[in-house]
Amino acid sequence: MAHFFHQHLLSILFVLSWLVHPNVIHAQFDSLFLNKTLRFDYLHIGDARNEFFALDELLEEPYWAGSHLHLIDTFGYGKFQCRLYDQATGELIYSRGYSTLFSEWQTTLEAQNVYRAFEESVVMPFPRHDAFIEIYSRNRKGQFEKKFSYPFRVNDYFVNQKQRMVFPVFKIREVAPAEKALDIVILPEGYTSQQMEIFKQDCQKFAEILLGYSPYNEYSDKINIKAVLAPSFEESSDFPPSGIWKNTLLHSKFYTFDLDRYCMTDAFQTVRDVASNAPYDQIYILVNSSMYGGGAIFNYYALSVNSNMLAGKVFIHEFGHSFAGLADEYYDSEVAYNEFYPLDLEPQEPNITTLVNFKRKWADMIEEGTPIPTPAEEIYRNKVGVFEGGGYAAKGIYRPAMDCLMNTFRQNTFCPVCIRAIRKMLDFYTQ
Ligand SMILES: [Zn+2]
Repeated sequence: MAHFFHQHLLSILFVLSWLVHPNVIHAQFDSLFLNKTLRFDYLHIGDARNEFFALDELLEEPYWAGSHLHLIDTFGYGKFQCRLYDQATGELIYSRGYSTLFSEWQTTLEAQNVYRAFEESVVMPFPRHDAFIEIYSRNRKGQFEKKFSYPFRVNDYFVNQKQRMVFPVFKIREVAPAEKALDIVILPEGYTSQQMEIFKQDCQKFAEILLGYSPYNEYSDKINIKAVLAPSFEESSDFPPSGIWKNTLLHSKFYTFDLDRYCMTDAFQTVRDVASNAPYDQIYILVNSSMYGGGAIFNYYALSVNSNMLAGKVFIHEFGHSFAGLADEYYDSEVAYNEFYPLDLEPQEPNITTLVNFKRKWADMIEEGTPIPTPAEEIYRNKVGVFEGGGYAAKGIYRPAMDCLMNTFRQNTFCPVCIRAIRKMLDFYTQ
């Protein structure tokens, strides 16, 4: 019996070491994927209660910047998940969580009465063998449900290989190979061809700001930043209430969901077209505007106006959403959403809790004797606790610290819970 157990233990250990050995992992990536991107463009159609996914187009893009080691999503963040299953074996070979503008729009008043269609797009390493591309969406209980499945054939000659928007790439910093780095691509919006030098300077500033904040500064040898030099015909961005409409590259506008400072673009496939000029994991759009605004959605994109750079903190805050899946820890600003987080569910974001399943969150970071919920008193100012108010709700949602860059711009630091979440994501991209 002992011998039998020992043999089994050995074989289990052998399998484990086989799974984690780096050479084997690269061999595994190479046996499953080509080092380029398969992009799946679709329309996301629906209202507050219904949604449909409709195939638009499959495209091949020249680079794949993602990790060769971490092919399967281990975070469980995002409203949606894209999964790739090998057709012959049925094995899950790639997955990523993400959110989109559509899922935010579903919580607006307009979505109660109107159907709308949003262009969306997901990317994955290009499979060597036939595979199923599947899209999962969270149901009201927060569980992923399969909503779309498409049998991808590697010999499908309709996969579009045309690079639709070719522009030069400006390297701001390149310190590690793409598969072992966080690769950020910065896209210019509302910079004319005469303003490309301003854009380059803005990109340099962006890089300095990002690498000046903890924990990004600890990973300075693992963060690549490139920019695509793609001009717009006109400068700035749309401002619909004033009748200002600009002919710009990425079709951004203020007043997204009728909220003045919410500057976003719903032309996401154009965003991908421009981004594909460089290998990238994360997209950051810089808008050439003196108005205050921006926004960011997890694994979708972050957007900031270049005048935000004076503060710098807005940049870092937005990137916290799009890169690390962090929630807003504030609850006292006007937003376009109604009950963004249901109170009977634990939200997926790592830095807010409804206390429904707090163990999954930062329970391990709370000092003994700290009351839960934690009163907003001076003695707890620099402590990790469970402070009521966060995620756009004053009641029923809790945040880890009295202040944090995901809450206000009074301080220069993220709270320890956000720092841990950002570190985990940086490790995921750079291992
Ligand atoms: Zn925080």
